[in-house]
Amino acid sequence: MTSLRDETVALLQQLIRAETVNDGALASGNEWRAVAVLEAFFAGSGVELTRVEPFPGRVSVVARLAGTDPAAESLALVGHTDVVPVKAADWVHPPHSGELIDGEVWGRGAVDMLFLTASYAAIFRRLATSGFAPTGDLVFAAVADEEQGSRAGVGWFSENDWATIAADNVLTEWGGARLGGVGSTAITVGVGEKGAAPRRIVVRGDAAHASAPWGRSNAAVTLAKVVDRLQAVAPAPRISEQWLETLAALELPAELSRRLADQATIDDAIEELSAHPELGELAPFVHAWTHTTVAVTILEAGSKVNVIPDSGSVSLDIRVLPGVTEEDVAAHLAAVAAEFPGLVSVEGDWFSPANQSATTTRLYAQIEQTLAEFVPGAKPAPILGVGGSDARFYRLHGANAFGFGILSPELTFSVARNRFHSANERLDLESIDLTVRGLDHVVRSFLSA
Ligand SMILES: [Zn+2]
Repeated sequence: MTSLRDETVALLQQLIRAETVNDGALASGNEWRAVAVLEAFFAGSGVELTRVEPFPGRVSVVARLAGTDPAAESLALVGHTDVVPVKAADWVHPPHSGELIDGEVWGRGAVDMLFLTASYAAIFRRLATSGFAPTGDLVFAAVADEEQGSRAGVGWFSENDWATIAADNVLTEWGGARLGGVGSTAITVGVGEKGAAPRRIVVRGDAAHASAPWGRSNAAVTLAKVVDRLQAVAPAPRISEQWLETLAALELPAELSRRLADQATIDDAIEELSAHPELGELAPFVHAWTHTTVAVTILEAGSKVNVIPDSGSVSLDIRVLPGVTEEDVAAHLAAVAAEFPGLVSVEGDWFSPANQSATTTRLYAQIEQTLAEFVPGAKPAPILGVGGSDARFYRLHGANAFGFGILSPELTFSVARNRFHSANERLDLESIDLTVRGLDHVVRSFLSA
């Protein structure tokens, strides 16, 4: 019998070659091609895949292995099949080749998150064909459109057909990185995600000929002042229980650790951390884990060199910590706007709150036990995701959702994170082997009596 690792690698290569590139347009993605790969993978296994296609070509599939005990908790393995676009010129090897080169599978999606989607399929097929009788339902879902807010994937299920993919517990992207540097036994587990509140600040001025600027209200100048004020009044840090758990797992020198745990000293301590020879690259993440961030992304003002602009705008990518509300964001921006009476207004009302799952749950305990079994001395390092994933929909529906994997000792948090959406995305065989066997262990243990 081929190993779980080899089955996963072969399937991963095929999924990479399916080129399911989601460029944001509803007509992109083409996840039907990944589904064709999965249908061939499950052919003859007796596993029945339910196809859902809310928009042409945007196909997701779901399979369910019924549990023996109606009262037992169910578990879903949820992987997206879409990938983000590539800039092929930046790649050493072709980005959709799926080639195995020097022990690494190369290609867009290798890390985010086709190796997990392939692992879920391999485990599900093996359990289903081996007569495994789970206590609670085991669900496998390969879903579309995660890279553009899940309109055609879990977001669609969430609004239209939750029962098909529902579960009490979920494993998805992403975890498994070595938080404390190469060989660290602090292994990340995704336990939550920050929320998002994109906003645009619009400024007004007086149009006038630029040859006589004196006394004019110049929207471009006001815009520059607004941006400056936004930097000056950046939200203060919040020290949460969750951050203290992550910090403890990092095992930093005691004095630095103490300063990172204190609201009064953390900002200076992040500066200090950035100079650390091995862990300096964690500084932007430590900042994002402990602050609601307001990033200036798009500035617009003026269209002609000899005209003083009468309007301008700045777009803000705002990511909120757990507990931060829509009203908190509005109050923060209103305080800046109030410094420019009559000249500034705030646009946008989209708000997605942060979410997290409790680390006191049975599934988390099972993850903890499994990590220790596969990596001597390993401990989970609970991490708040700074971006979004499909886990948030499950948490919204009351499920516990965790990002789980076990990557090889070289894959530190920043190395693994920097491969997301980047050129030369690739994953080594040891990471695939540890992850698929670890997942298999979690699933079997969690769904046994
Ligand atoms: Zn992903």
